[in-house]
Amino acid sequence: MSQTRAQRVVLASRPRGAPTVSDFRLEEGPIPEPGEGQVLLRVALLSLDPYMRGRMDAGPSYARPVEVGEVMEGGTAAVVDASRHPGFAVGDVVLSHSGWQTHALSDGKGLRRLDPTAAPVSTALGVLGMPGFTAYVGLTEIGRPAPGETVVVAAASGAVGSVVGQIARIRGARAVGIAGGERKCTFVKSELLFDAAVDHRAPDFAQRLAEACPKGVDVYFENVGGAVLDAVVPLLNDFARIPVCGLISQYNAVGPFPGPDRLPLTLRQVLTKSLTLRGFIQREFAPLRPTFEREMRGWLAKGQVRYREDVVEGLERAPEAFMGLLEGKNFGKLLVRVSPL
Ligand code: NAP
Repeated sequence: MSQTRAQRVVLASRPRGAPTVSDFRLEEGPIPEPGEGQVLLRVALLSLDPYMRGRMDAGPSYARPVEVGEVMEGGTAAVVDASRHPGFAVGDVVLSHSGWQTHALSDGKGLRRLDPTAAPVSTALGVLGMPGFTAYVGLTEIGRPAPGETVVVAAASGAVGSVVGQIARIRGARAVGIAGGERKCTFVKSELLFDAAVDHRAPDFAQRLAEACPKGVDVYFENVGGAVLDAVVPLLNDFARIPVCGLISQYNAVGPFPGPDRLPLTLRQVLTKSLTLRGFIQREFAPLRPTFEREMRGWLAKGQVRYREDVVEGLERAPEAFMGLLEGKNFGKLLVRVSPL
């Protein structure tokens, strides 16, 4: 049955610490009509990503925050349901940034047509999309692993981490994944074929990580920070590279972080081991996107890169699924099926 009303999830209040359901509000209204030069998009898939937690906060960052009352931001795959735009026809499938809603109007700017016969549409939001690209540029432009070197990545079963380790292996490096729980670790080792996987929830995590990296660590692809970083720092080799991609363990933090200030000790390691610590936001490497897509399509076709998606049904479940992402409850690239393709 086709939908007769549009739904959207707006930011109801700015969270302090971990978001709760009351920070989101589901609203309903009429499906909008496209004006001249516009298309009506029906969102099929919504990508849920850790960066969205940052958009819920006020204050300066690399991107504008979502204002209270505004639709939550997000990447989407959508179907053109009505068109008054010469470049798009009804039924076209597009990559858009329509946010947490069932319908959106667009003037066509920023839309990218997808070919559902070339690759599953969902991959445009995952392995062939922003997260896959993040892994690719962070590893190949900053981490630059040489054959035989050891690459460690956390959140290793997730959208970015899973790709980091698999590209590391393609480049001849040894990939060690860190993931939460035995199920994810088994997947990282048996399905993604990393050389080792270590559970960061295990009481002897630091020791297990050291055992999994007998020659130390040459590239640490930083996705989480906190206790995981603490365990990696003593293992870093001279001239190790640390692409700082994300710090998800800190996204819900309020006030000063617990425990001693580790910055002086970490900087001493940066100095004495000649480490390279380099933060990045994937979009700075945008010109590399076509190269990435060509390479990734080849790896997927040859089965050298595998991926896992975690699909939640229904827009109304997006808040709960997003809160789970910040606690490691997702298993693979987190998507919401908003409507059928
Ligand atoms: P994801 O890995 O699919 O999902 C998030 C995972 O983070 C969870 O499943 C969980 O995995 C782990 N996690 C959550 N809370 C944690 C905690 N307190 N301690 C340790 N691990 C925790 O997400 P993703 O989209 O691939 O993103 C991974 C990282 O990349 C995030 O930090 C994100 O912000 C960053 N990122 C950066 C850019 C950029 O341009 N710089 C672009 C995209 C993503 P476990 O259960 O295995 O711990």
